[in-house]
Amino acid sequence: MERKSFFETPIEYLKGVGPSKAEILKKELGIFTYGDLIYHYPFRYIDRTRFYRISEISPDLQYIQIKGVITGTQLIGDARKKRLVATLADDHGGHLELVWFQGIKFVEKNIQIGRPYIVFGKPNFFNHKPNLPHPELELLSESKKEFQTALQPVYSSTEKLKLFFLDSKGLMKLIYTVLQQGAHFIDETLPEEVLSQYKFMSKREALAQIHFPSDSRLLQRAQSRLKFEELFLIQLRLLFNKQVKKRLYNGSTFSVVGELFNSFYNHHLPFDLTTAQKKVVREIRQDTYSGLQMNRLLQGDVGSGKTVVALMTMLLAADNGYQSCMMAPTEILAVQHYHSLRGMLKNMNIEVGLLTGSTKKKERTRLFEALLSGELKLLVGTHALIEDGVQFQNLGMVIIDEQHRFGVEQRAKLWRKNNNPPHILVMTATPIPRTLAMTLYGDLDVSVIDELPAGRKPITTLHKFENHRLRLFGFLKEEIARGRQVYIVYPLIEESEKLDYLDLMNGYEHISNTFPAPQYRVSIVHGKMKAAEKDMEMERFKNGETHIMVATTVIEVGVNVPNASVMVIENAEKFGLSQLHQLRGRVGRGAEQSYCILMSSHKLSSEAKIRLDTMVQTNNGFEISEVDLRLRGPGNLEGTQQSGVLDLKLADLAKDQQILIEARSCVERILDEDPSLIMEKNKKLKYYFENKGVSEITWEKIS
Ligand code: ADP
Ligand code: MG
Repeated sequence: MERKSFFETPIEYLKGVGPSKAEILKKELGIFTYGDLIYHYPFRYIDRTRFYRISEISPDLQYIQIKGVITGTQLIGDARKKRLVATLADDHGGHLELVWFQGIKFVEKNIQIGRPYIVFGKPNFFNHKPNLPHPELELLSESKKEFQTALQPVYSSTEKLKLFFLDSKGLMKLIYTVLQQGAHFIDETLPEEVLSQYKFMSKREALAQIHFPSDSRLLQRAQSRLKFEELFLIQLRLLFNKQVKKRLYNGSTFSVVGELFNSFYNHHLPFDLTTAQKKVVREIRQDTYSGLQMNRLLQGDVGSGKTVVALMTMLLAADNGYQSCMMAPTEILAVQHYHSLRGMLKNMNIEVGLLTGSTKKKERTRLFEALLSGELKLLVGTHALIEDGVQFQNLGMVIIDEQHRFGVEQRAKLWRKNNNPPHILVMTATPIPRTLAMTLYGDLDVSVIDELPAGRKPITTLHKFENHRLRLFGFLKEEIARGRQVYIVYPLIEESEKLDYLDLMNGYEHISNTFPAPQYRVSIVHGKMKAAEKDMEMERFKNGETHIMVATTVIEVGVNVPNASVMVIENAEKFGLSQLHQLRGRVGRGAEQSYCILMSSHKLSSEAKIRLDTMVQTNNGFEISEVDLRLRGPGNLEGTQQSGVLDLKLADLAKDQQILIEARSCVERILDEDPSLIMEKNKKLKYYFENKGVSEITWEKIS
């Protein structure tokens, strides 16, 4: 049989798989071919080398294996409660009951009293005494079955598969057969050099060992090799693509640092940049100087000062004769950016335009003309920037804030607004762990602002229960008396939208009573309000006309009210970590000490407890994202949901960071030496590309 076709052989050709089993394998596990079956890895192993004494059995043992002699059987109970009980005696004087509720006749007929058996199963406890329901039985004399290894693989299966005898054991037999027939068809994936550098076992051996390990050491070696390979191939695809993109597209070259940038930096910057901000500006400067198109992700916690970095980037573009635009996900945010850019530029002679859905026709026309003539260099806006009417004379830089709120199509449209693609800087305040960034955004360059401006007082976070409410309200009154403002946030979770809405309204009523007008003024903002109404309430709060903002999570993104010093989060146990962190970031923006108070009930799941404890212990978004990754797994973190790159079979981005970092730097070394993968020793890798069609450039790969 030819090599490629072996892995692609339809599953129904396998001995023991007829049409109906094949059908069910496809439906239940997505296994269509021999290859699919081989890549259906065990999720656990049972140590079959270990034999227990009956006296050692305890409730925390998952599985036990015992050698012993069956001394007798007995039928107990009648009708539906009937069961067969056999007694097993080991060499150490222990006695254990083996119990069957089904298949009694068959067992009774076949069991051989007085002969030594190997018995295996999950122990059960009744009145503190162990028994073994439905154990596997094997005569000691027959126990050397061909596919039995020291560590027995356990495969995921389903109820339906079990009806077709495809439980873990059934699958194991199929996989054993495939590997027997096909081991010599398994080709090496990794280049020789990589294998010898890391002392990896061959692919063939790794696949054999991961299914049927000889011992735990070899199993572990097989696992790390296959994990490495999995991550290596993803990195290869990402970095290869990144490189092709760089070769295909020239970026505009910003060859000078000119008057605007220098004047701003030397005379108008209202504070000293942090070291991290300087580092990022330098990185952007290098990218835009290089002649290649920049695709950079800027991660920085809330309040880390991304806006000024964006502004300096735009000034750099303007110095070189290019226009820039900055896009925000909501009107409120766009307006906020507009004001903060204008504020920073107030003593300089450069205009900033604002384009949103509510920009009036006349102003819109003026903007369009100024953009087309090249007279207007800096533009801030919402999705309105994407519309076809918006045309630039020479767009050189696009800055996107809060990146995951934009769809693929929208990004591509922006990209096409210039002949030469503009440089792209994507800014996000949702910190994600490094390993995740390497995988999700592996084809972007990543910059991180990992320090807050000096003099910022860390937010004090407290976790309190309902019995603390009176004291809480007292505290809020004190803060308001000092001229501060307060957020009180309620959860809004889709499944229980009605209930949450009720919670919010009850809360609002309660707060309005506790903080009565005219002394206190309370705003409310929630998802059921019209956008204009919401904006108006936000404005009132921002302008200090109201003291308390009662809201659902609609305020989560980027809203800046420096005078707000307290964030109260109700039912905090219902929020995810990254959401809690984002919400907390709404305060601590001014000079005052700020507080985040997490209110919860006493009934907390262990995960909720970890979340709240983490919030109390740290203000660092990256640390929080690491905990989030461990709690929820990579596929469930914010912004990662639709990403196919995270469907990993073996590797775990929370645990296998070291392997990932190795794999990535290994790919970097290979591509450095052989960018097009034309060298003989990298032929295999090229083959992988050609067969998976991964060198294809698609729009969604471009930010
Ligand atoms: P974010 O990264 O969340 O977008 P901003 O850019 O809105 O943060 O900055 C938050 C606040 O910190 C703003 O008021 C900004 O003026 C201020 N700021 C930014 N950089 C510095 C700095 N280096 N020193 C002092 N204040 C700074
Ligand atoms: Mg911001």
